[in-house]
Amino acid sequence: SLGRKRNYRLGFRAKPLPYLVVSEDVGAQSLLNKLIRNNLVNTTNQVEVLQKDPNSPLYSVKSFEELRLKPQLLQGVYGMGFNRPSKIQETALPMMLAEPPQNLIAQSQSGTGKTAAFVLAMLSHVDPNNKYPQCLCVSPTYELALQTGKVIEQMGKYYPEVKLVYAIRGNKLQRGMKLQEQIVIGTPGTMLDWCSKFKFIDPKKIKVFVLDEADVMIATQGHQDQSIRIQRMLPKNCQMLLFSATFEESVWNFAQRIVPDPNIIKLKREEETLDTIKQYYVLCNSKEEKFQALSNIYGAITIAQAMIFCHTRKTAGWLAGELSREGHQVALLSGEMQVEQRAAVIERFRDGKEKVLVTTNVCARGIDVEQVSVVINFDLPIDKDGNPDNETYLHRIGRTGRFGKRGLAINMVDSKMSMNILYRIQEHFNKKIEKLDTDDLDEIE
Ligand code: ADP
Repeated sequence: SLGRKRNYRLGFRAKPLPYLVVSEDVGAQSLLNKLIRNNLVNTTNQVEVLQKDPNSPLYSVKSFEELRLKPQLLQGVYGMGFNRPSKIQETALPMMLAEPPQNLIAQSQSGTGKTAAFVLAMLSHVDPNNKYPQCLCVSPTYELALQTGKVIEQMGKYYPEVKLVYAIRGNKLQRGMKLQEQIVIGTPGTMLDWCSKFKFIDPKKIKVFVLDEADVMIATQGHQDQSIRIQRMLPKNCQMLLFSATFEESVWNFAQRIVPDPNIIKLKREEETLDTIKQYYVLCNSKEEKFQALSNIYGAITIAQAMIFCHTRKTAGWLAGELSREGHQVALLSGEMQVEQRAAVIERFRDGKEKVLVTTNVCARGIDVEQVSVVINFDLPIDKDGNPDNETYLHRIGRTGRFGKRGLAINMVDSKMSMNILYRIQEHFNKKIEKLDTDDLDEIE
């Protein structure tokens, strides 16, 4: 009976966990992805547009001038180093800036210019003379809200009359006060409280409602519901905008509840390929030998920046220690670190302060590492059943289309089992993974 009781408790407890894990995971991944890149994702794909009114003309712009932005905002855009609208911005911006305002659901992968687009729309629509909130933007996490806030501050640099406030947990306001800032950005729970319970915001005066990262949003229990409750308080003519990197059925259902009569813009993710990548494997007998091989590789070739993936935290920690003992500047990204710590590590790596980033498979699952020229699988990616995780392998090693820089991937093999995994990966992609002799590294480079 004791056994049964234990089982019952385990089963009972296990239920809410996946939610927490998933939401923390996707929220953190999304943030880290934003931080690791500092430019646009290139894409050759065309946007797909579904207009609310198919008979109305579809405008798209090739320059920011064509948008007739306020001069202060044009200055802000150019000040950020943007020369022309990104693929998604070409169509999304005219739609969002049209009169009367149009509702929009837009989907494209991270790094294609969605945030910059809706920030420009919010800044264009506010009236700085009115000292009350006119735009609400909800983000799935505290960190993502701050990140978007930074973009608002940068783009609004020459438009200082427009003010911004964060509706995030911990930002306590005096009871009964009314916000004067024109833009409020925050997480759904606090935003909802500020609109309804505390009445810091008069929702009836909102002109633009933005819901960012819808796919991350729905991974957190309660966010969907809170977002819908905020949306219901807004006036009928409020512009509703929703953005997402992916578009599964569940995201789409949610999007339709947030955005009535939407225009829809989709930009397909650029296919990743292994065509421009040289793939190698190194045969070893232990993790010490793998480390030795890695040292040899480092001794033989110049590596600008490399990312090294390990299966466990323990291995990652050990490897980072060994590498730094050899004099390498190493950054370690590990699962037990707080999101802010992880963000700081990623930013330092992006800025080139460290040349090697060691991380666990889990920790960096969805991170785009396009700018890294060398990827090392210290352990091969496997799924929870021990089968090759081909998708992760491709995402980690692969590069997109014809923009792909040439890259180098090195896989460390230390057992029959991992050799078998390697063969299966090779078979899956039908691309040869060459054997590398780390005592004779002439062939590489
Ligand atoms: P998303 O929200 O889709 O992830 P972002 O708006 O964050 O994309 O843009 C990704 C990166 O590209 C950011 O560093 C941003 O500053 C930059 N960026 C956005 N729009 C442009 C543009 N039109 N020209 C150049 N860079 C841009």
